[in-house]
Amino acid sequence: MLDELKNKYSECSLCPQLKENRNNVVFGVGDPKKAKVVIIGEAPGNQEDLQNEPFVGRSGQILTELLGEIGLTRDEVYITNTILCRPPNNRNPNKQELSNCKGRLDKQLEILNPKVIITLGNFATKYMLKTKEGITSIHGRVFDIEGKKIVPMFHPAVLLYNGNSPEKRKELLDDFKVIEEILKKN
Ligand code: URA
Repeated sequence: MLDELKNKYSECSLCPQLKENRNNVVFGVGDPKKAKVVIIGEAPGNQEDLQNEPFVGRSGQILTELLGEIGLTRDEVYITNTILCRPPNNRNPNKQELSNCKGRLDKQLEILNPKVIITLGNFATKYMLKTKEGITSIHGRVFDIEGKKIVPMFHPAVLLYNGNSPEKRKELLDDFKVIEEILKKN
């Protein structure tokens, strides 16, 4: 079912500027049968667009490390983004693009049916929680929505902007530990 959805979007032309600039439609990665957690980021960057896999650049490396710290490998999660195509020069996704890709993300989540969702950064968080609150005030909190636990977290890229500060890293890790606790209980 996920493969059908992936095929459906492989030639997507809903966002003409993104279609024109992309190398790949970066659908998502993970084994739907094994994945305990779905992680939603913002949008593919340069490396993701080239390698056709979400979170394989520098932010991805940090994400993989943080997952490792709570005993999870990338095989045990499913990773996707709010939009599937890299915005030119890594600009923010715009409202129209987010809305164009919403049907796809909703369908993808319906198929995956995860109990736990991590939203990384403001875009994914606002999109999933329909909140106006910023990530700084709600990161690490558990939102129970329609039988799913949604946990917003800082985007791992914050460590790139903060010179990998140990305090910020600890803040991120503390949020990942919330996931560890949820998984222990389920
Ligand atoms: N940042 C994101 O939000 N998603 C990716 O896939 C890579 C970097």
